[in-house]
Order: sequence, then C-alpha cells, then structure tokens
Amino acid sequence: MPELPEVETVVRTLGGLVVGKQIERVSVHLPRIIRTPDDVEAFKSLLAGQTIQAIKRRAKFIQFILDRDVLISHLRMEGRYGLYQADEPVEKHTHVIIHFTDGTELRYRDVRQFGTMDVIPLGTETTTGPLAKLGVEPLDESFTVDVLRQLLKDRSTKIKPLLLNQECIVGLGNIYVDESLFKAGIHPERPARKLTRKQVASLHASIVSTLAEAVEQGGSSIKSYVNGQGEMGMFQQSLLVYGRKDEPCVRCGTPIVRFVVGGRGTHICPKCQKK
Ligand code: ZN
Repeated sequence: MPELPEVETVVRTLGGLVVGKQIERVSVHLPRIIRTPDDVEAFKSLLAGQTIQAIKRRAKFIQFILDRDVLISHLRMEGRYGLYQADEPVEKHTHVIIHFTDGTELRYRDVRQFGTMDVIPLGTETTTGPLAKLGVEPLDESFTVDVLRQLLKDRSTKIKPLLLNQECIVGLGNIYVDESLFKAGIHPERPARKLTRKQVASLHASIVSTLAEAVEQGGSSIKSYVNGQGEMGMFQQSLLVYGRKDEPCVRCGTPIVRFVVGGRGTHICPKCQKK
C-alpha cells in the first residue's frame, strides 16, 4: 500500500501535469470507487466544468483542489494515476477517467479495486469526510518529540499498531513503521507507555529521517507502486528490515525475523530490538 512517501511523490509528479486543467466531463466504470456523493451521476456533474487549482497530500490521501470542491482520493492497495491523450488505448482496470477540455485525460487504474474517491465542498474537508479525524503529519514542523511523547503516554497499546493508527500519526504504514522501529532499536510489541524518554526521542528522529529520505528517493516500489509519471521509486533499495527476512542485520549480522503483530507482517532484528 502506498504510504506517505509514495503518496507525496504521486502528488508532486502529478501536480506539474494536471494543475490548471479544466474538467470537461468524468467517466466512471466502477461506481463503488465513488463514496461521496453516493450518487455517481451527482459525482460526475459536480466535477464537470471545474479546474484543478492545486494538488496536495494529507496523510495517505490525495486532494485535488478544484474551484468549489475538493476531490479526495485514496489509492489503498494499488491505485494509480496517469495522464494520457484521449486517443490512447484505455488499459484494463481503468475505473475513473477525468476528461480535460484540452484533449488529455487523467485515468485512475486500480487492479485491487480498494481505492476510494470523495467530493466535498472546498473548506469543509477538515471538519467532514475522510480527512476530518486524522492525526499529526510527521513531516510537519508541528510534529515534535513532545508531541510524540504526549501521543504515547498512558497508552498500553503495542507501539507498532499505535504508529499505524491514522488518528494518532498519519502516513505511516507497514514498511515505514518497521523501518522506524528498527532504526530506533525498539521492539514492535513494546507497550507505547513503556518507552523511555530516550527511546521516544530516538523514535521521533527515526520516523522523520526515514520518511524524509523515502520522499527524497521517490518512495518504495515493492509490488506495483509507480509515481504520477509511471516511474518507480528507489527507496526499496535502502530498506533495512522490511522484506529482508533471513538476511543479515546491517548493524549486527543477526538474521532478520518476520512475525505477525496486530495482524501485520513485521520485520525486526531480534538482537537490536529486544523485547
Ligand atoms: Zn541487529
């Protein structure tokens, strides 16, 4: 699933391609991708005529800022966007096509069909809809060591599921949680409230540096992820534990172990991340 670095890269690469384009009409081939409004025809008529003013990321959501509304898109497992000329053949699994007045089309493909789209009035996105209950942005200046300490304190939850909770900190998924916990030397099943001050500071630094480096390298292409221009990310080559089961730990040489925490496949070095 695309996490913060991948969605940020999609937003950056797509921005230069579609900002300023006016929507002529929209085709929807898989209505269940559209959540709001619940009538697909209403979705289509809301978008027609509006211009894409900007593209932004919030958590793992893409926001297309239009004249009057915002189109909020979540890629879930394998959703992807691409800009095409109208006469180019439409690939399989293309579920939504935004036709622009200049003869180009923004096509949304999603093999797994888990992606979602919501259109809500511009200005209401922080109080209603999918963005309303989201937690702190880890690459924002407001994410400090103190903020992280407050989020973890009194929580008996295991640290990994807590970091995956989007109402707590946004943007982290399985890959970047495993990487951040390894860098900080913290076992994923440690209760959040039992982290020492030093561990919280180290975890904060690990989250920020891991995400920032991953953004720098255009995200990680593990299965199918590509950016808005169809290019793969590079950060999968820098992953230290994720997907490296049985390979030696870069710090101590102990083989990386994979087990399940909160239903998610989890990678650790059993020596560097003691329970
Ligand atoms: Zn190790």
